[in-house]
Amino acid sequence: MKNQGLYRQLRAISPSQTSGKSYVDGMKSIVASSNNYLGLAEDQRLTDEAVKIMKEYGIGSTGSRLTTGNTIWHEKLEQRIAEFKKEEAALVFSSGYLANIGVISSLAGEGDVILSDQLNHASIIDGCRLSKAKTSIYRHINMEDLREKLMHSQHYRRRFIVTDGVFSMDGDIAPLREIKTLADMYNAYVIVDDAHATGVLGENGRGTGDHFDVAVDVTIGTFSKSIGTEGGFVAGSRSLIDYLRNRARSYIFQTALPPSIMEATIKAIDIIESSPQLQVHLQHLIRSIRNEFLDYGFDVRGEQTPILPVVIGDSEQAMAFSKELEKNGVFAPAIRPPSVPQRESRIRMTVMATYIEEDIQQICKAFYKVGKQLEVI
Ligand code: PMP
Repeated sequence: MKNQGLYRQLRAISPSQTSGKSYVDGMKSIVASSNNYLGLAEDQRLTDEAVKIMKEYGIGSTGSRLTTGNTIWHEKLEQRIAEFKKEEAALVFSSGYLANIGVISSLAGEGDVILSDQLNHASIIDGCRLSKAKTSIYRHINMEDLREKLMHSQHYRRRFIVTDGVFSMDGDIAPLREIKTLADMYNAYVIVDDAHATGVLGENGRGTGDHFDVAVDVTIGTFSKSIGTEGGFVAGSRSLIDYLRNRARSYIFQTALPPSIMEATIKAIDIIESSPQLQVHLQHLIRSIRNEFLDYGFDVRGEQTPILPVVIGDSEQAMAFSKELEKNGVFAPAIRPPSVPQRESRIRMTVMATYIEEDIQQICKAFYKVGKQLEVI
């Protein structure tokens, strides 16, 4: 792995008192690759809620939801998510990863087929692997390929189409309306992982379904991106949630999240729902940074989402790019295979609604300088 430039190392990040900046291994930097798109992870209002509940209840939840870990705060959050997503019910998991593996593997079984987008997140892939269903991978966002695969899947007991709402490494959006039309034509269920769309797309950040005004069968998500806390969820019909509560192994056998996190998550959803200006401002920043990068001549993927991947190509070159960015006070790690396809290593630049003008200028200047220096542009 070292020889191929694929060896991975940890970096220690700690907050600095300066707006938009953090310390990365002791060096002050702008973190230009966080999933904290709305800046809520360090929002004082969330911290206050968490501390209040922590003082009242303690730190750990002590058990799984079905034994001693369930509290009124877990149930309150589930109701809040259902309301926010305009679904009948919701279920909280300890992470988005666990939600994906738990939901997919308990819904799809022997005799079923899962049609999965080529660029779906690893947790969806693992969910498919854990299920006993046949997985058929369709070309990324390619509706013709999906149609063909659905046409040849009519002999399976049931068909599930599973897709990211916003693709984590490419920042593009799944064409949910077309997916739903095909699903209806070929009698398939639609499962959407809305990890990167929640808080970003749709009215009040409701997600990809709302963005396209399409209802899907199952919506999965995480609190670890725009919402700024921790945990995962699934939202859908009451019978779906009831079934998953009884069957999803990563829900049943996992210690519940602490109540403090539940309360902070409720606060975050309240803030997102009542502050549409956050999404408007984020979209404005996305457009201006993206246009600037395109003007420089970068291969920028994605649109309308805070994920702006700058494709460099070779793994070693992407690593060198990231290292040079860091010398210029910008932290954005290189993303390499297997997270992305071979020869498509990239810098996964992300935009945060809390960037100030000075941050944006520093990020743009650093990308331009390093792009020229390494002859990427
Ligand atoms: N789905 C997608 C699309 C993701 O990007 C991620 C996180 N990288 C997850 C699921 C997993 O969420 P969590 O970090 O809460 O486990």
